[in-house]
Amino acid sequence: MKYEYLHPRDELVLTMQRIYRYKMTTTSGGNLSILDENGDMWITPTGVDKGTLTANDIVCVRADSRVEGLHRPSSEYPFHRAIYAVRRDLKAIVHAHPMALVAFSIAHKVPDTKLFHQAWRSNGTAGFAPYGVPGSEDLGNKIAQKFTEGFDSVILENHGACCGGATLQDAFGKFETLEMCCKVLIKAHTLGEPQYLTDQQLQLQAKGDVPLEAFEYDPSMMGIREKELRNQICKFVERGYRQGLLTTTTGTFSARIDSEKFLITPFPLDRHSVLPEELVMIRKGKKEFGKHPSRAVLAHRAIYDAHPDVMAVVNACPINAMAFSVCRRSIDTYTIPESYVFVREVGLLPFETVFNDFDRLAQTLTLQSPAAVFCNNGVMVVGDSVLAAFDKLEVLEHSAEAVLDAQPIGGHVAMSRQIINELSAAFGLEPAPPSRGPVWPL
Ligand SMILES: [Zn+2]
Repeated sequence: MKYEYLHPRDELVLTMQRIYRYKMTTTSGGNLSILDENGDMWITPTGVDKGTLTANDIVCVRADSRVEGLHRPSSEYPFHRAIYAVRRDLKAIVHAHPMALVAFSIAHKVPDTKLFHQAWRSNGTAGFAPYGVPGSEDLGNKIAQKFTEGFDSVILENHGACCGGATLQDAFGKFETLEMCCKVLIKAHTLGEPQYLTDQQLQLQAKGDVPLEAFEYDPSMMGIREKELRNQICKFVERGYRQGLLTTTTGTFSARIDSEKFLITPFPLDRHSVLPEELVMIRKGKKEFGKHPSRAVLAHRAIYDAHPDVMAVVNACPINAMAFSVCRRSIDTYTIPESYVFVREVGLLPFETVFNDFDRLAQTLTLQSPAAVFCNNGVMVVGDSVLAAFDKLEVLEHSAEAVLDAQPIGGHVAMSRQIINELSAAFGLEPAPPSRGPVWPL
């Protein structure tokens, strides 16, 4: 779905459905707006169930302040207007009260987005606006003041958060990523002390397009396997988003076609949905002409080059695994048989590995040791099929969540070495290494 082709009414409805579906608002809370090229503001209405909003419910406030529509505009219309007045570059605003952002809002704290590069890239530094009565001009002025200072994302004291963007998708991506950043921080604090990226590390990811030569792709040469993989990847990306394993701004999928070719998701990409034709083919190290592969493409290529048996690679930033990633700890899989059998020992690698240490990356990730945590950079898994890689990602995230959930009830008790040896024998796995990489319990 290309949101840029939609009328603002439909874009607002689809985005609100997404916000409601992913529990970032309640029925009554939250409001969105788009400012069009005529200076007219399209905004969600007040007093209408956010779970059943339709295009007919959207209100238009014309540039001359005339209101058109079946309802009154959102009661927070004054702050939307105030933000557009001071920031001519912003054309869309998202405001709601999702739980983790509200937690920061009521703790009077601002999440440090240098926790992971997607949060930093999308939001920059977030601001904090003092409390004001909802719907008042005073609140509008206080929030607009923070946008005047250059913040695109602002935590509202004892209220929620608000993000502005050049498009509604842009504003939504910031909002969702900031909520994710808050969730990760809250989870990470049950585990230890979260660590942050340095400006130098953030620069590594800030570099533009991956420098790959291009080749002229001819779709008429597409074979059955490529068609199958293109559709499979799309289905798993969408499923990953629905399951909370991917977000709008995080997660890359790739799958090998044959010894010379693999497919990878593009950059940029809204992981909510991707079309088969949007995937980028990499052939003999060159990319399809006119397309931009994910910036993880070199890391994925290094794994395919080193391991002919690896058929799919996924890197992602699911919340619970991310808590381990930002605390720079590996995830213990000596928890239940399923975790150990599917994910085995989980490697722990420095942030920079996916940028400049492909030998170490390829040594760590094999079908026998299919998962690794990167410090402040999520996790990566490999599999002998797209389904297998997806499954390992799910098992890894569930293992991380179980270990975190066990913390407040006394911490988990790892399965013994004897149990692991029994499992290895029963499932035909290579014996566990004599010394476990990360030491656990921590
Ligand atoms: Zn509100």
